[in-house]
Amino acid sequence: MGNPKAFLTINRKEAGYRPVFERIEDFGEVEQTLNSEDRMEQASRCMDCGVPFCHWSCPLSNRMPEWQDALYKGKWQEAYEILAATNNFPEFTGRVCPALCEKSCVLNMQNNPVTIRENEVAVIEHAFQEGYIKPKTPKTRTGRSVAIIGSGPAGLAVADMLNRYGHTVTVFEKDELPGGLLRLGIPDFKLNKKIIDRRIDLLKAEGAIFRNNVEVGKDISATELLSGFDAICICVGAGQPRDLVVEGRALSGIHFALELLRQQNRAVRGFRLPEEHAIEIEAKNVLVIGGGDTGSDCVGTSIRRKAASVTQIEILPMPPADYNPDTPWPLYPNILKTSSSHKEGCNRRWSLATQRFLGEAGRLTGVEVLDTQTGETEIIKADLVFLSMGFLHLVHDGLADELSLAYDVRGNIATTSHNCTSVDKVFTAGDAVLGASLVVRAIDSGRRAAAAIHTFLAEY
Ligand SMILES: Cc1cc2nc3c(=O)[nH]c(=O)nc-3n(C[C@H](O)[C@H](O)[C@H](O)COP(=O)(O)OP(=O)(O)OC[C@H]3O[C@@H](n4cnc5c(N)ncnc54)[C@H](O)[C@@H]3O)c2cc1C
Repeated sequence: MGNPKAFLTINRKEAGYRPVFERIEDFGEVEQTLNSEDRMEQASRCMDCGVPFCHWSCPLSNRMPEWQDALYKGKWQEAYEILAATNNFPEFTGRVCPALCEKSCVLNMQNNPVTIRENEVAVIEHAFQEGYIKPKTPKTRTGRSVAIIGSGPAGLAVADMLNRYGHTVTVFEKDELPGGLLRLGIPDFKLNKKIIDRRIDLLKAEGAIFRNNVEVGKDISATELLSGFDAICICVGAGQPRDLVVEGRALSGIHFALELLRQQNRAVRGFRLPEEHAIEIEAKNVLVIGGGDTGSDCVGTSIRRKAASVTQIEILPMPPADYNPDTPWPLYPNILKTSSSHKEGCNRRWSLATQRFLGEAGRLTGVEVLDTQTGETEIIKADLVFLSMGFLHLVHDGLADELSLAYDVRGNIATTSHNCTSVDKVFTAGDAVLGASLVVRAIDSGRRAAAAIHTFLAEY
């Protein structure tokens, strides 16, 4: 621990966001960066607690006190090496993680935690800039091959780990580019896609093979993969969105959130959509149904696309603003979350259950909602609705059903132990087994699956 009194004398300082008027004009990342001196000073606030709850709450068990100390001392490379020992992709989590570590930081008892997430992204970006990160190809190859299906954070973590162990990995991805929800779900204003390209280039240079535009179960059968590879790992995510089957659902103007977000992410990259498929938002009244992160991403996207108004509704009551006795420290607090998108001009409402969609000539004009607290109904004017009520489980059709995989009660892939599925040689990781979750958990799940596959291949 470098500076034992820093937490008493130095306040938390966040890099903050670009001003609203500027950022809503583009899809560039909204978060700014601190200079290196400020960043090191922020790291000095870590108290190196006897019991580091930050480490306990991080799904990857990142060793926060150790790399904060190295960062404070200006040992950027050492900080990077400690971080990279437990986290394959700090450049993703450093940008989009809800930072479970900060919520359980002892300083968060006074709402003043160490800026661990921002420190993380500073360390990894410094490491790339200074050239600490170079392709590392395994000295020897084992002669074993593994097919990884799906290239989200889980699949990428499996690929990275198994490649390091010397196995030959091929990642199959149904979309045109790898990255999963990092690429086509999370908007560019949270995660610039060049950050993903940079990591994919590195993985390729290290020997990982990527086969895009290949949907396993359709373009190539799972059985074919089973006979061609020593093991396969299914990392297909939780792609089945929760629907809202009420009167008027068939009206035009009602879309799943990912229809919008996938379209927008492609547009930012310069892909041109056929006009009949493009969702027109300018000057429309947008209603986002679902109060979570996916909904918030629809809010930010709609604002940038010049919607006339953006409202986000949630069926649950508004959570407490700053303290919730049901989730005391060091647990992750269930309190009101206000994202950068919310601050850009969105009307947020709670305790509203959707009753029916209203329309004229086949097009949506409004949504009838019931206030679950008062029992009153009202009609919210809407030309467009984005359904953002979460995801049920992986898509069962195709690959999963072809393999006759067993599912758990929630419809996720059932695992026996160590990420093994009910089918021999078939492993799984990420949202496909966890249910819709977080990038950090997907990476952790991928690391665990890779370790299990490595053991399996050694005994095979
Ligand atoms: C809009 C949105 C915003 C989010 N924001 C955040 C955030 O800010 N922070 C955070 O921590 N988490 C966030 N999440 C959650 C996070 O993105 C996921 O938990 C994480 O990406 C799951 O990783 P995964 O690798 O398991 O699956 P995914 O990222 O879903 O990747 C699965 C991949 O498998 C491919 N695939 C599926 N079937 C096949 C097939 N048959 N053949 C070949 N390929 C196939 C898919 O095309 C996809 O590329 C967000 C989720 C959404 C939807």
